[in-house]
Amino acid sequence: MDNIFMNTYHRLPVIFARGDGSWLFDINGKKYLDFSGGIAVNVLGHNYPPLVRAVCEQAGNFFHVCNYYQSDTSQAFAEKLVETCAPVGMKKVFLGNSGAEANEGACKLARKYSLLKYGKGRHTIVTLKGSFHGRTITTLAATGQDKLHKDFGPFTEGFVHIAGGNIEELDKALDAKTTAGLLIEVIQGESGIVPQDEKFIASAAKLCAERDILLMFDEIQCGVGRTGTFLALEQYKDESGNPIKPDIVTLAKGLGGGIPIGAVLAGEKTCDVFSTGDHGSTFGGNPVAAAAGLVVLKTVSDPDFLAEISRKGEIFQAALKQNNKVKEVRGKGLMIGFDIEKESRPVLEAAIARADLKNDTYGLLMLSAGEKTLRLLPPYTILDTEIEQGLRIISELI
Ligand SMILES: *Cc1c(COP(=O)(O)O)cnc(C)c1O
Repeated sequence: MDNIFMNTYHRLPVIFARGDGSWLFDINGKKYLDFSGGIAVNVLGHNYPPLVRAVCEQAGNFFHVCNYYQSDTSQAFAEKLVETCAPVGMKKVFLGNSGAEANEGACKLARKYSLLKYGKGRHTIVTLKGSFHGRTITTLAATGQDKLHKDFGPFTEGFVHIAGGNIEELDKALDAKTTAGLLIEVIQGESGIVPQDEKFIASAAKLCAERDILLMFDEIQCGVGRTGTFLALEQYKDESGNPIKPDIVTLAKGLGGGIPIGAVLAGEKTCDVFSTGDHGSTFGGNPVAAAAGLVVLKTVSDPDFLAEISRKGEIFQAALKQNNKVKEVRGKGLMIGFDIEKESRPVLEAAIARADLKNDTYGLLMLSAGEKTLRLLPPYTILDTEIEQGLRIISELI
């Protein structure tokens, strides 16, 4: 089936042809309930009518204009995005196409900020062990997982990985003479849904502010409403109990509801650091992607909609915590990881193989994140009845 593709993905034996809400249908018409959400991308499910309409309408105007001009749709999207992130101090945005590209932009921005203010040699970016920041050479250097590094060096210099939760190590690593920034996922996604400790984040905010080291959050997986607030960092506080005010936030995945788009948001310190010619991206801010993104933002920034994400998350958490085959449940909102006694991969496969036309049974799509960890990132539009249906399959299989 996919031997014309390079062998980069451990693919499951299914080819999808159509989607509807929380459901996908394969080429044989078999039905699957989607708890994987395209890895936190399909935030409004499949074929969400307002999203389809917005994309079709923009496609009928034009697909693309280059970034020497601006399009009305890209302008409206950028304004809405900055407005949505204004409560945490964001002032301006750079648009790209993916998470890795957003993190690359964030690293460039941090390095230039530091260079302009302090001169050469203050370029280190500190990240956490277990983090995932992308697959390009630089974002792999930022990623704190050795298993992803083998075979691809040499990497971009100037990245240091420390253990999350360890304030002493953090204090030592944030050397004001050599360090430009700290890049953190407040909830690590790829390594199994691992939320950072509140004290650790508060200390990070304090130390960064004192030393003028940029505080950067990678919200590519946990942002865009996933945890019940637009940004997951909104659920953390600094040492005085005030909201965390980062210098840079990166977004991608769910931001376009399934169309590729990435963003680097910049606060007061960093919003005017780039000058003309410093950075760019041919497709960045593409109008079709922006049209989709605008629908996502308008939908997801509504406080009632966000409250629903939290409420649905509680249903998952409560059910999984009650299951005695589940060893631990982590995460917030509709970003859920849980450890089981069995290997996760065979469970994923069995959940898919369950789909059958004759018996009229459907499959369930989940993600693994580690050998014995399952990860759920369902669409925010999922119905309570669908949550129950999926949870029933999970308890059957584990
Ligand atoms: C997925 C992900 C990325 C990389 O995004 P791509 O769009 O695949 O480049 C970076 N950081 C986090 C936290 C992610 O989950």
